[in-house]
Amino acid sequence: LPVSRRARREQTGLLERAPLAGLEARNISAWFGDHQVLDRVSLDMPAGVITSLIGPSGCGKSTFLRILNRMHELVPSASLAGEVLIEGTDIYDPARKLVDARKSIGMVFQKPNPFPAMSIYDNVVAGLKLTGTKVGRDERDQLVESCLIKAGLWNEVRDRLRSPGGGLSGGQQQRLCIARSLAVTPQVLLMDEPCSALDPTSTRVIEETMLELVNDVTIVIVTHNMQQAQRVSTQCAFFLASQGQPGGIVEHGDTEAMFGDPIDSRTYDYVNGVF
Ligand code: ADP
Ligand code: MG
Repeated sequence: LPVSRRARREQTGLLERAPLAGLEARNISAWFGDHQVLDRVSLDMPAGVITSLIGPSGCGKSTFLRILNRMHELVPSASLAGEVLIEGTDIYDPARKLVDARKSIGMVFQKPNPFPAMSIYDNVVAGLKLTGTKVGRDERDQLVESCLIKAGLWNEVRDRLRSPGGGLSGGQQQRLCIARSLAVTPQVLLMDEPCSALDPTSTRVIEETMLELVNDVTIVIVTHNMQQAQRVSTQCAFFLASQGQPGGIVEHGDTEAMFGDPIDSRTYDYVNGVF
């Protein structure tokens, strides 16, 4: 790198990795209107680890994930109680800006959602504008390259950075969304069923990407794919909502133990596909 560029890069620290951070949810309860969907859920999501949230549809996994980066409050009828700590600081502290929570805790959704008409390059840096992060032109090029490398997409798109994001395959679009999340150097990446809309090959590529990424960023993933949970995650939490009750965590722990020797019979049934 030319000296001047390196100096600037060190100045802004933008291309440096953010320090690893863990997340802790404490007594999270959530409502839509007067319908309670989560009841006092606590979970420690340690730094540098992939945590999988598993459980049947409708038990509150997505709601829980959205609470972890303050997206729940975007729903007008939604309310919540409890705390979400990132390295000990509550993201719901009124003194903390919403944009700071969003910058440090990125999110990737089930359906890849790049801006389809926007170029691949502009998609990667789109989050910078939204979060008001200023980056010089040279640095932006560097950032785009490093994020696309981290997302495992660089080699496939380096010659067509100016083509629209919507022209990529589904799996590539999902990796573009991962690159876009990484551009604001998050400390945590939340992924809500990131492979559910993808074919097995793309799924494998994304899993490999996650396993690389987790050295830099803490990952929390919702998945219905039990093999995937076992392949990628260090720990799992099993969510369940029984008979009209709000959802909660039945059991959590090391992935191997959850699948090999679960404590609760409901966990056993779920991970073994017994209905
Ligand atoms: P999961 O991701 O585990 O399938 P969700 O978190 O999406 O579960 O949903 C949990 C419960 O909250 C469900 O009963 C669902 O119908 C309800 N819910 C989710 N989103 C909304 C919303 N925007 N408005 C009202 N109810 C919602
Ligand atoms: Mg969901």
